[in-house]
Amino acid sequence: MSTGPMPTPDGPPIEIGESRSADVGGLPVRRALPRHGRRTVGAWCFADHMGPSSGDGPALNIGPHPHVGLQTVTWLFEGEVLHRDSLGSEQPIRPGQLNLMTAGHGVSHSEETTGGSGARAHGVQLWVAQPSTTRDGAATFEHHTQLPVAELRGCRITIMVGSLVGERSPARADTDHLGAELALQRGTTTIEIDPGHEHALVVTTGLVRIGTSTIAPGNLAYIALGRDELHLAVDGPSTALLLGGSPFPEPITMWWNYVARSTNEITDAHADWTARSGRYGTVASSLDPIDVGPPPWARSPNP
Ligand code: MN
Repeated sequence: MSTGPMPTPDGPPIEIGESRSADVGGLPVRRALPRHGRRTVGAWCFADHMGPSSGDGPALNIGPHPHVGLQTVTWLFEGEVLHRDSLGSEQPIRPGQLNLMTAGHGVSHSEETTGGSGARAHGVQLWVAQPSTTRDGAATFEHHTQLPVAELRGCRITIMVGSLVGERSPARADTDHLGAELALQRGTTTIEIDPGHEHALVVTTGLVRIGTSTIAPGNLAYIALGRDELHLAVDGPSTALLLGGSPFPEPITMWWNYVARSTNEITDAHADWTARSGRYGTVASSLDPIDVGPPPWARSPNP
């Protein structure tokens, strides 16, 4: 469900959409992307906001599973998650650190909260669609503990990927996209943005207003091309992610953990995972690998 575009005095309309509820590895999540009518924002094609889980809630436990054609971006506000992948990486992820895995032709990974059940978890997992130039390439992994920070009046911005307000992240970016955490205090903030980018604002704590629109956790505000400033207002401490980029030039096909260009590619990618063909390597995790049935178009018809 989404409200129609609302005209705002200082630029193109802002579209507010509702996230869908989902469950990932035992944790409730708000899925802001993809959603009906809005598959991508720049190269961003998936956005899950998980938690905050209460200390009594379930821990995050996601066993080994494959990815193709995308980058996973894991970003935490609270808690700690252990990332393991088929490249041999074993990396704790802590708040304010960028965990970036590039799948290319194939990789697998597992994610689990450390400290067992009762550990708090609050964060996001985002996917970036890879362009045709790199999507069949080798898998890679990066973890960044030092990221550029910009202090604006009323807002502290951590640049996760791409560039914003004159700061550039060292993280790998295969397309012209950006991601940043906005930690807003009381009052108003103006952020210069690239009018050649479309943007999305995902609020994770508190409430953020853009013009007459109020954005809460569970909403994604879509900001169309053509704005050069974003005016944000908050009544108290609030946190949001700003995602953006040049509109992704190619239509993508997504199913389960794969981003591709055709259903045939996805059928093949999934057959390789199901057969443990070696395409995705192995992950040194005690969790069981995750298997799901074939994609709907590859299922045999009911008798
Ligand atoms: Mn994953």
